[in-house]
Amino acid sequence: MKGIDFEKASFKDFENIPALDAIARAKEFQLFLDHLKNKGHLNYRIESVTGCGPEMDLLLPGKSTPQRCACFVSNDYLGLTQHPGIKTALKDAIDKFGSGAGASPAIGGHFSYHQDLEDRIAKFFKRKSAILYTTGYTANSATLQCLLKKEDMAIVDMAVHASVYEGCQLTNVKTFLHNNMDSLEQALKYAQHNYRTKMVIIDGVYSQDGDLALLDKIAELTHLYGAYLVVDDAHGTGVVGKTGRGAIEEYDLFDKVDIITGTFSKAFAHIGGYVVADTELINFLKYQSKQHLFSTTATPTTLGILKAMDILDEEPIWKDQLWENVNYLKNGLLGMGFDIGTTASAIIPVKIGDIGKTLEAGKLLLDAGVYANPIMYPAVSKKNARVRLNIMATHTKAHLDLVLNAFESVDQKLSISKP
Ligand code: PMP
Repeated sequence: MKGIDFEKASFKDFENIPALDAIARAKEFQLFLDHLKNKGHLNYRIESVTGCGPEMDLLLPGKSTPQRCACFVSNDYLGLTQHPGIKTALKDAIDKFGSGAGASPAIGGHFSYHQDLEDRIAKFFKRKSAILYTTGYTANSATLQCLLKKEDMAIVDMAVHASVYEGCQLTNVKTFLHNNMDSLEQALKYAQHNYRTKMVIIDGVYSQDGDLALLDKIAELTHLYGAYLVVDDAHGTGVVGKTGRGAIEEYDLFDKVDIITGTFSKAFAHIGGYVVADTELINFLKYQSKQHLFSTTATPTTLGILKAMDILDEEPIWKDQLWENVNYLKNGLLGMGFDIGTTASAIIPVKIGDIGKTLEAGKLLLDAGVYANPIMYPAVSKKNARVRLNIMATHTKAHLDLVLNAFESVDQKLSISKP
């Protein structure tokens, strides 16, 4: 067997190598990991010895003591993981309810804090019913798996999250070009008379480019062709829209989206997923979606999410500060000529293109005390590698200036191509 060229390889190349069994494949992959590590490019799973925040103490590869870095890697956009009110709510929740829920929801694991959160997240999106899952990933994958079978078709924006693709394994899938209405219409026409349930699945805010779905146009086309619309607004919720209800609020389309999915792991500073839809559909999921039905429910610390939802409405300062930071950093990067695409959220991609340069940029940024994620194929197409910056409300001007200065010196060393 001809070996994989490690210089050009990505993690995806090791997913399935036909000639190698599982153990041999793992061994080959280990050689690739060692190769990346030797080049200083294995900047994943970096261990922080302090909590989630705009600065963290990181155990960097090859170093024996932690190094304080400014961090642009967290989806804790509002900085609420360290909010004293939430910490108190979590402690109180444990005092009142203990550490765990003890069972799956149908047979003893459904508590008042679950019901309260289901009611609250439904109301948040001006709807009546919601169901909880243990992660945002499962909310997508389990729901789609439950709803879409071999008679049906998922029509998917090519930039959606991996959890959507996993949820579509039992059904037919047609992808359309990202935010491209002609491509979507073609797929809808193809599916219209050939499949039973047609479901268009998009993100509200896209996780790699930070751009918004063209939700109004998509909703109109989707319903014109008799399809249903599913929106995962993991990155828009808490960040986008006048009161943080996400892309759906930005477009005022609360009654035009059939199924809303999302996560409590980002602006809500916790963990867990949800699906909001009409009551019949939610009840169907409660008794038919295996990952909900047969899996133990979230812990009492769920009450921290309810507190985060209070804070979103009662302390708009966090969202305001976040946007001030986003605009400051965007202007700085644009002023230096970088290509940051069409972001309209707290995710700013600094587009580099070349995979090798992007990995090197990640390393140079770390050397300068800035932790940011290099993103490349398969998360984005091969020519579209970038460093992604996730902005937080709790970043200070000093953090933002540090990252701008670091990018200036990265550019001097690597000559990043500009638009
Ligand atoms: N949807 C999108 C768009 C995401 O980016 C992510 C995770 N980053 C998820 C869903 C999964 O959410 P969770 O991390 O809560 O599983």
